[in-house]
Amino acid sequence: MKLISPVVKHLVLIGGGHSHLAVLKHLAMKPVPGLAVTLISREIITPYSGALPGFLTGLYKHNEIHIDLRPLAQFAGARVIQEEVKELDLTSKVVKLASRPNINFDLISLNIGSNPNMELIPGAREYGISVKPISKFIEKWPEILENAVYKVRKDLPFKLVIVGGGPASIELAFAAQLRLYREIRLKASKKSKLQIKIISADSELLRLHNSKVRKFTNQKLQEKDIEILLESQIVSMNENTLVCKNGNIIEADVCIFATGASLPSWPFDSGLAMSDDGFIQISNKLQSISHEYVFAAGDAATIRGEPRAKSGVYAVRQGLPLAKNLVRYASGRRLIKYKAQKHALALITLGNKTAIASRNNFFFQGRLIWSLKNRIDKAFIRKYTDLPSMDENIHITKGLVDQETEKSLRLHAIRCAGCGAKVASNILEEVLDGLPNTPKKEIISTTSSVEDASMIKLSDGKILLQSVDQIKSFINDPWLFAKIATNHCLSDIYAMGCTSHSALAIVGLPFASKSFAKSQLNELMLSCSETLRSQECALIGGHTSESEDLTFGLCVNGFIEQEKILTKNGMRTGDILILTKPLGTGTLLAADMRSKASHTDMNSALQEMAISNKTASEILVEFKATSCTDITGFGFAGHLTEMLRTDNVEVELILENIPALSGALGTLEKKIYSSLHAANQSASDNILNQEAFFQNLKYQLLFDPQTSGGLLASVAPELAEICLSKLHSSGYPHANEVGRVSKLHGKSSSIILK
Ligand SMILES: Cc1cc2nc3c(=O)[nH]c(=O)nc-3n(C[C@H](O)[C@H](O)[C@H](O)COP(=O)(O)OP(=O)(O)OC[C@H]3O[C@@H](n4cnc5c(N)ncnc54)[C@H](O)[C@@H]3O)c2cc1C
Repeated sequence: MKLISPVVKHLVLIGGGHSHLAVLKHLAMKPVPGLAVTLISREIITPYSGALPGFLTGLYKHNEIHIDLRPLAQFAGARVIQEEVKELDLTSKVVKLASRPNINFDLISLNIGSNPNMELIPGAREYGISVKPISKFIEKWPEILENAVYKVRKDLPFKLVIVGGGPASIELAFAAQLRLYREIRLKASKKSKLQIKIISADSELLRLHNSKVRKFTNQKLQEKDIEILLESQIVSMNENTLVCKNGNIIEADVCIFATGASLPSWPFDSGLAMSDDGFIQISNKLQSISHEYVFAAGDAATIRGEPRAKSGVYAVRQGLPLAKNLVRYASGRRLIKYKAQKHALALITLGNKTAIASRNNFFFQGRLIWSLKNRIDKAFIRKYTDLPSMDENIHITKGLVDQETEKSLRLHAIRCAGCGAKVASNILEEVLDGLPNTPKKEIISTTSSVEDASMIKLSDGKILLQSVDQIKSFINDPWLFAKIATNHCLSDIYAMGCTSHSALAIVGLPFASKSFAKSQLNELMLSCSETLRSQECALIGGHTSESEDLTFGLCVNGFIEQEKILTKNGMRTGDILILTKPLGTGTLLAADMRSKASHTDMNSALQEMAISNKTASEILVEFKATSCTDITGFGFAGHLTEMLRTDNVEVELILENIPALSGALGTLEKKIYSSLHAANQSASDNILNQEAFFQNLKYQLLFDPQTSGGLLASVAPELAEICLSKLHSSGYPHANEVGRVSKLHGKSSSIILK
C-alpha cells in the first residue's frame, strides 16, 4: 500500500533573501511530509550583493552574481510566486496579492532585506538612484556608464555622487571608478573630468569599523582622487543637485543612495511589533515577539537585546536556525536559540582585485583577502545553484521483465505531467479501433475518428461540438495551472473554428486538511471561471473527486454551422502551414521537474501556455484556413500526421522556421525529454528524409508533447502573409510559416524536411 502525505500546514516564505535560501535547501534535503511551502518573492533571480562590486567592474557576469530561486524551490517542492508583497493580514493569516487570489498560511517567515532610507529626503526617489533593490540598480547601471562615457568623451565633467558612509558606498565608489576608467579608456590628463564623491552625515567613514580599517580606506580613497564629504546630511534633492543640512549645494550628474537600511511600512501596518530602529522585532528564536506564527531574519529583523549591523553575514548565519525553527514550530516542538556573533568578518573590496578584512580590531588587506572573498562568494552561489540530480530510478522486481525492457523503463522513470502524461497515440488508437460502436444518425464524428471534438447534428441543423480533456498538474501552482489547463481544454473547440459556449469542469484534488483543500479548490475554480469568462464561455457544472495528484479538465461545448467547421483534413497543394505558438513545453517541464529549468525560460513558457487559442482561431477562420488542429500531447509531428491521414498531399517542413520556446533547444541538447517523447517518435515513420536531421535539435522538437500548444493550420498562399501579420499583431508574436503543402509523389501522404 502506498503511503500518502496529506498537506496539513502551509508555510509561506516572503522574500528570497539569504536566510530563505538556506530554508529552501534544508527543506529539500530534509522534506517535511504534510507541510506545503510557498515562496513569494519580488525577484526570483535574486542578486547576491557581496558580488555586486565585481559585477560593476565587469569581473563577474550577470548569472555569476545571481541565484535562480526556481530550481532551488522545485528541489524543495515549494511553490513559487513572483510578486512584491504589500499587505499582510495577520488576523486572518492571509498574504494579500495584487495579481491573484490571497494566499492563506499557518506560519510565515519574512526575509525581505532592506532598502536605503530615502523616504525622508524629498526628491531623492525622483532624482536619485537607490543601490537597492539591486536588480533595479543593475538595470540602471548601463545607462550610468553610457552617460558618463558620453560626457567625458565630449570633454565635459561627469559627477558621480554616492550618499552613505558604510562599506557599500566605499565598494561602489572604487568599483564605479575602475569600470568608468576602463570604459572611457581615460588618459591621465582626462581623469579629472570624472569626479567621484562620497557624502556622509557621519563625522567619519566606516564608523562601525576599527581605526586601522578607516585609516587605510581613507588613504586609498585619497590616492584614487575619490572625494569625501563628511558631516553633510542630505536634506533634499533636485534634478542634478543635492542640498545639505548646512546649506551646501552639491552638483551631481548621477547620485546613488547607499544610506542606512529601512523597511517599507507594510510589516508595521500588519501589526507586527517593531524595534526602535524600525525593523521586525524578533526573539533569539527568530520569532516575532508579537505573533508566534511569524518568523523573520536578515536585514528586515532586529533581535531584541542583540541589535547587529545590517549585513548579509547575519542573514546567512540565521538561515539554518530559521529553517530548523520553522519546522519545529510547524510540528509543535521546542524552538532552538540563535546566538548572533558580536562581530562579523567584513570583506570590503577596493576595486582592482584587492580587499580589506575587518573584524572588531582585526585588519588585513591585499590581493589575498580579495581571493578569499572571491572564493567565499563563488562557493555561496554554487551552494544554491549546483543542486544534486534527482533519483531517476524505478522499483521493479528483478527478473519480472527482460533487461532491455527494464532499461527502457528506467530511461523514463520520471513521469511527466500536463500533456506529457497522455497515453501514447498508438496505444490509444489500437484500443479505440477495437471498441464496439453504437451508430446514431446525428453523430457526425465518433470516438474512432481523429477530429479534435465530436460533432452532433441538432434538430435546427446546427452542429454541437463537444470535447473533453483533463491534465495532471505540471506546476506547483493551482491558480496558474487552472488558467493554462482551461485554455488547453478550450483549444479543441477553437481548432475546429468554433467559439466555446459552455463548459463542465472535472477536478481531482489531493487529500489535504480541510482549509488547504478549500484554498486549492478556490484558486483552481477562480482561475478557471475568470479564464472562461474572458472568453465568454459559461461554466455550467462539474465534478470533483479526491485523487493522488491535482488534476483539472473541462468538457467544452460549442455550436457551429456544419459548413463552417474546420477539420484536420482539407490541405490543398500550395497551401502554407502556419504554427501559432512556439514548441518546447514538454522538454522544459521535464527539466523543471528535475530542478534544471531556469526561471526565465519557465516564466516565458508558462506565459505562452496561458495564451488562449481563441483569437488565433478567429484569425485563421477569417483567412479561410483549409484545415486546422491544435498541437498537444502527440507533438507537432504526431498532430501533423493526423492532418495528413486522408489528404493525398506531401508536406515540406522548414525545420529552421519551427518556433522554439526559449531554453527548449538547450534542454533537448542536454537530452532532457518528456516521458511521452519516445512514444511520439512513432510519427517519424511518415518523415521521408529523417536520417539527415537526427542531430538537429529542431527535429527532436517535432516529437515534444505540448501542453496548451498553438494551432497548426493550412492557409492559401496568397493569404498566408497577411494572416501571419495579423497573428503577430494579435498576441501571437512567434507565429510562423513552418512549411508548405505540395503534390503527392509517393504512395501515401508524407513529410519531407527542408
Ligand atoms: C553594494 C553592496 C554590497 C554589499 N556587500 C556585502 C558584503 O560583502 N557582505 C555582507 O555581509 N553584506 C553586504 N551587503 C549588505 C547585504 O546586501 C545585506 O545585508 C543583505 O543582502 C541582507 O540580506 P537579506 O537576506 O536580509 O535580504 P536580501 O538579500 O536583500 O533579499 C531580500 C529578498 O526579499 C525579496 N523582497 C523584498 N521585498 C519583498 C516584498 N515586499 N515581497 C516579496 N519579496 C520581497 C527580494 O526580492 C529579495 O529576494 C552589501 C550591500 C550592498 C548594497
